[in-house]
Amino acid sequence: MTVRTRFAPSPTGFMHIGNLRTGLYAYLYAKQNNGKFILRIEDTDVERYVEGAVDLIYETLKDCKIQIDEGPNEGGEYGPYIQSERKGLYMKYALELVEKGAAYYCFCDKERLDSIKGENGIKRYDKHCLKLSKEEIEANLKAGKPFVIRQNMPTEGVSSFVDLSFGEVTVPNNELEDQILIKSDGMPTYNFANVIDDHLMGITHVIRGNEYLSSTPKYNLLYDAFGWERPEYIHLTPVMKDETRKLSKRYGDANFEDFISKGYLPEAIINYIALVGWSPKGTQEKFTMDELIENFSVSGLSKSPGIFDENKMKWLNGEYIKELEFNKFMDLAKPYFDKSAIKDLYSYEKFGKLLQSRIEIFSEIPEKVEFITHFDKIDNELYFHKKLKIDYLKAKEVLEVIIPKLENLEFTEDNLHDCICKTAEAMELKSGVVYTVLRIALTGVSVTPGGSVELADILGKEESLRRLNLSLSWLNE
Ligand code: GLU
Repeated sequence: MTVRTRFAPSPTGFMHIGNLRTGLYAYLYAKQNNGKFILRIEDTDVERYVEGAVDLIYETLKDCKIQIDEGPNEGGEYGPYIQSERKGLYMKYALELVEKGAAYYCFCDKERLDSIKGENGIKRYDKHCLKLSKEEIEANLKAGKPFVIRQNMPTEGVSSFVDLSFGEVTVPNNELEDQILIKSDGMPTYNFANVIDDHLMGITHVIRGNEYLSSTPKYNLLYDAFGWERPEYIHLTPVMKDETRKLSKRYGDANFEDFISKGYLPEAIINYIALVGWSPKGTQEKFTMDELIENFSVSGLSKSPGIFDENKMKWLNGEYIKELEFNKFMDLAKPYFDKSAIKDLYSYEKFGKLLQSRIEIFSEIPEKVEFITHFDKIDNELYFHKKLKIDYLKAKEVLEVIIPKLENLEFTEDNLHDCICKTAEAMELKSGVVYTVLRIALTGVSVTPGGSVELADILGKEESLRRLNLSLSWLNE
């Protein structure tokens, strides 16, 4: 048997992190078993459809290096892979169920449905239309009365199945509602289409969110009614912000695109989300896609919600950034440099070298280089450093001695280091004192990417001396 899994997103215009993780797991499971990964677009909910959403799904999967074997663009022998293009075939299957007594026409209007009184606060359809005679049904259909088709659930006994992650799931049949299979507009519901499509597409393992866990017995009854083999199921717990809160668009932490625009790399996102809800056997945390394929295991799936820790993902992203080839890093960093208003002023390259090992996400860049474009009056207090015994008077002394030396120096990193060390020696100071004073006097901030030499080199001689003289004049005020 060839394992066939599918990812079945609805084209809503964004890719929720939890949904992407579902797709990832389905991909990993298929590839680990030398199987096929299928993309199916579930667009039967016309109201939720967003133009361009299918392209976004494709772009996301491509960025994440999740390769589709069969799908709308790839084709395959089980197409079409877009549900709305399969519209014509669902009715035929629904009518087959009606024929078999496993489904029935329902003509109840809203008023009648509203009047149904529930039991114990749970309102379920009361099988009213199941009692209609053949003649009544025909007359209604002839008269063009709107209808839906409902599944006819057994009222006694229990339904069970074994989920590969959750184990055995059993529900009493009298808790299963006669759910709608075909809506009054002729379109199938998700509840029906997922079964028909999974069967016709030869899906062997259904991997999806556990919001469908409790409905799965109903789906299994459909498989049984058709005499089709049930697939295996692997249900996944949701990805949450913490125990009670979902990830939300409002906080910019729900969608793949949000993280890309914050400056995350797709490979870091994929690596991280693989670990939200799945625990590898060892302690390894950084995984390439191939390693994920090799290591993924259903037994490592968690049965409680996965908690999404953005700081952890940030750390991982930093690790991926460090590993990028420098040119690639610069390509990705460029838009952020452009945003930072240091455009054309100074060499990006030198900054890039400085920043690559010092940022975790690209969006830190503008803030990290802000001192380049903003050089405001420095507060004397900023020089204060207890351990190095620096105060503003010491700072003044250092600047008075070193500025004339720098004026006669050719600015290279080696020369600068040399000059700083010699100055420290002559003044009987630790070189750290001179480095620190220079860094602050050059930038006006106490934390900078890189030290004073690298910064002076980036700023260039002219700008460095302009700033140092200004800083000295402020100390003299
Ligand atoms: N379109 C459904 C969703 O996005 C798919 C669920 C499934 O994988 O069966 O939730």
